[in-house]
Amino acid sequence: MKLKFLGTAAAEGIPAIFCSCETCKISHELGGKNLRKRSSFLLDDKIMIDFTNDILHYVHAYQLDLSVLEHLLITHSHSDHFNIFDLEMKLNWFTNPDHKPLNIYANEACIQRVKDIPEVEDWESIGMKERLHFHPVRRWQEFFIEDYKITPLAANHITSYEGEHSCIYVIERDGKRILYAMDSGWYPDETWDYLERHKFDCLMLDCTGALLQRQGVGNHMTLEENIKVAERLKKSGSIHEGTILVSTHFSHNGHVVYDRDQDEFLQNGFIMSYDGLEIEI
Ligand SMILES: [Zn+2]
Ligand SMILES: [Zn+2]
Ligand SMILES: [Zn+2]
Repeated sequence: MKLKFLGTAAAEGIPAIFCSCETCKISHELGGKNLRKRSSFLLDDKIMIDFTNDILHYVHAYQLDLSVLEHLLITHSHSDHFNIFDLEMKLNWFTNPDHKPLNIYANEACIQRVKDIPEVEDWESIGMKERLHFHPVRRWQEFFIEDYKITPLAANHITSYEGEHSCIYVIERDGKRILYAMDSGWYPDETWDYLERHKFDCLMLDCTGALLQRQGVGNHMTLEENIKVAERLKKSGSIHEGTILVSTHFSHNGHVVYDRDQDEFLQNGFIMSYDGLEIEI
């Protein structure tokens, strides 16, 4: 499997939109890998996970041809993961008429969010039903996207939709298994139970709080917590020497600067992600 990190920041980006903190200032000055867009991910050029406010940037920066993209998997309804308004660009008039529809796999709250927007009637008049196919995702109910087996696990992540089932995803293909765990704090027991019963070739972990020296940034994790996740999964035999560990989804409030801090991540066994990072599993 080919993993590509299109964007690697939390909702604000680094540098953040309305910020002049030290981390944002240094990141501006250094440029390059220190600049981060919102988190989105591409698997084998076939499945995109999360659809951010920076989607147009990815199309330009990586010369992506999303006219051929057929599968979009969504973790939860926050706007930096499910930028519903750019879905309109898949409808008639905004693009060529002969594309295959886009399949969107998302929890009920995300699907409801689209239905609730005032523009939805206009969207229906320009081909929403033909162009956007919604597939409800439920925790623990595995499903297939082509020959990729997807298992949605429970994330620990609260949104403004009461009772929304935010998910982290296990994806399997050709005897390889990866975990995409964006936007979650310390996992619920049933998620641990699943993780500890399976073996993984790659873990991609939320590291919003990055270098903050405290646990429990709530909905997210720090590097310290990423390390604890790895330690626990080592004990259960779920990860091995060859398992690739990646920390990603960074906030400027976690005070990370790639050029300065990547060694600290490496010393702890983690690759510190950057926009455009590609890994072959
Ligand atoms: Zn997020
Ligand atoms: Zn800042
Ligand atoms: Zn979120």
